[in-house]
Amino acid sequence: MTPPDLSEKAIPELYGINAFSDAVMKQRLPRSIYKAIKDVQEGKAELTLEVAEVVANAMKDWAIERGATHYTHWFQPLTGLTAEKHDSFISPIGDGRVMMEFSGKELIKGEPDASSFPSGGLRATFEARGYTAWDTTSPAFLKEDSTGVTLYIPTAFVSYHGEALDKKVPLLRSMEAINRQAMRILRILGNTSSTRIITTVGAEQEYFLVDRRYADRRSDLMLTGRTVFGCLPAKGQEMEDHYFGALKERVSAFMRELNLELWKLGISAKTQHNEVAPNQFEIACIFDTSNVASDTNQLVMETLGRVALRHNLVALLHEKPFAGVNGSGKHNNWSIATDDGINLLEPGDNPRQNARFLLFLAAAIRAVDEYAPILRMSAANAGNDHRLGANEAPPAIISIFLGDQLTEVLEELADDSRKKQKDILTLLETGVAALPKLPRDLTDRNRTSPFAFTGNKFEFRMVPSSESVAGPNVVLNTAMAEILRRFADELEQSEDPQKKVSFLIAETYRRHKRIIFNGNGYSEEWVAEAVRRGLPNITATVDAIPELVSNASIELFTRHGVFRSEELHSRCEIYLERYAKQINIEGSISLEMARTEIYPAAMEYIRRLSGSISALQSVSASLDTKEHLALLTDINDETCALKSCCDKLAAALARAHGIAEYGANARACHEFVFPAMQELRVHADRLESLVPRELWPFPSYEELLFRL
Ligand code: ADP
Ligand code: MG
Repeated sequence: MTPPDLSEKAIPELYGINAFSDAVMKQRLPRSIYKAIKDVQEGKAELTLEVAEVVANAMKDWAIERGATHYTHWFQPLTGLTAEKHDSFISPIGDGRVMMEFSGKELIKGEPDASSFPSGGLRATFEARGYTAWDTTSPAFLKEDSTGVTLYIPTAFVSYHGEALDKKVPLLRSMEAINRQAMRILRILGNTSSTRIITTVGAEQEYFLVDRRYADRRSDLMLTGRTVFGCLPAKGQEMEDHYFGALKERVSAFMRELNLELWKLGISAKTQHNEVAPNQFEIACIFDTSNVASDTNQLVMETLGRVALRHNLVALLHEKPFAGVNGSGKHNNWSIATDDGINLLEPGDNPRQNARFLLFLAAAIRAVDEYAPILRMSAANAGNDHRLGANEAPPAIISIFLGDQLTEVLEELADDSRKKQKDILTLLETGVAALPKLPRDLTDRNRTSPFAFTGNKFEFRMVPSSESVAGPNVVLNTAMAEILRRFADELEQSEDPQKKVSFLIAETYRRHKRIIFNGNGYSEEWVAEAVRRGLPNITATVDAIPELVSNASIELFTRHGVFRSEELHSRCEIYLERYAKQINIEGSISLEMARTEIYPAAMEYIRRLSGSISALQSVSASLDTKEHLALLTDINDETCALKSCCDKLAAALARAHGIAEYGANARACHEFVFPAMQELRVHADRLESLVPRELWPFPSYEELLFRL
């Protein structure tokens, strides 16, 4: 294959050619329609069918010029994947001929048969209808593959009665919630120019690449995304020579094509590098509004998988594909900005900006402290259980890293009772609690914190690598909206808002400083210290998910119109079921591989070894066979243990299978199936280190991690 033209000149021309971007709309829509659609995007007007007709037509012409024959509404059901249903543009005109058509109605609304998507009891079986509705704020795009070109329209997915069935609807609602409350604060602080608040997200995505020839021969990898067996090779990640190391040519070629695909979609893939573990990589895109960034990250994950296959590679997005080497995560960089470009988490360079920053910072501190269990819930899945709270970072305890300087400023503000009477501007202007220039590059260097302030944004580092970023951002936005609501209530009632701001910052810090931790989040001492501070340490998904339906959660989300109570209950059910299914699949595959691949290989070795030993003994009884017999005994013991662990796992699977209630079922998977799998693995991995390579039935870690 000839390498694509990535010369400096070509890239700007290629960039975004597959996106129905703002620039394309400006160029192709009549001015009044363009203006109307911008108003809709900015929440200033409702979308009319008339406007939709014109946009649909322009979209269709643009797509057809680029070779599209079909369109699809693209949505994010709670399976964790994206879904699509393709329709062609053709429309019969009655005389045996067709024309290419795409109406405003078809753009605005779709009706996929929704009965097979999880709804957690929200949709009665007789009411299988679900609707997809165009998200005007996320650009439509074209996807090309060897079979053709299709127009993709990002949509939200709701039930007949308007309940959210996807990840996007609550995200959009949470953005609205924070917009409402943050605008109140801005007005109180005297801002009259901004008209809207947007939340911004930049996702850093980690993944592994393995050679497809090897991956194909491991049913665990292909079916669950992780290896349920595998012992560490002689060389692991201890050399730390992979991080930021030179990219191998095969990987470079893959990344080149990946970038090209993403750039064509108008996705600003910006950085890429080797990660800590062998064959682990990261890709980051430039931040965007939360819902666009969330769509973009889904596309990045999909594109990673697709492009990898073209290079005979398999991209693994699982949180923990390999035991004993680092797993993958996703860093969710998050901030709040105004429509006229003010980053509200930017410290700024004058006292007024400093005061605003400190107030929003205080709100974030309180939001994370108060809603830590829900935030933790948003990062829970079966894969992340191997990382959070296991022997890997980040820990399951939510804490905030602020850096020493910022912490000092807050200490200063909160500490001195003499300052109580002064207002925040006076304090900052007189330098009593002046904000130092924060060195951007230093603030990010604590890599062990799950929630780190990095100069002008927070970085939430718990997000599972395989999941949508929508969930965590729904929690962040709504929790923040709630604290801003309380601040705004207090400020609006206050006679001297400036003084009140200073009080709020100090008071909030005093009450919530337990969440701030600038030390090493991986250390044992921190776990003990966190317990002393009363911070929750939720290590398992089965304990985290039910936080969705805690009183605090229901109160929070219903107040801000982000979730109805039924929606929360349905999600709790869906997520626990998903967890149980995943563990069940992993357990079944472990059992199958152990019984049909590992056990026969071990028995074959036993046969050969016993044969050799008897042969030796028959040659001469005086030959020493003690060591061979010891080895044989070892292998036999391990094989017997493997066999009995298989039986145990089978019993655990049957036990979980017999429990119908979803909560109890998920718990049984966690308490019985998972440990039984781990126990089985111990013996399987020991056997792998004893049985000859040629007999071992599937590729080893060495092949998966070091051969590219
Ligand atoms: P790091 O040191 O973690 O690599 P970077 O400055 O490279 O930090 O940023 C990482 C991510 O944060 C990128 O995706 C970037 O676009 C994003 N980011 C930067 N500013 C913001 C912001 N204001 N809001 C959200 N994300 C942001
Ligand atoms: Mg980062």
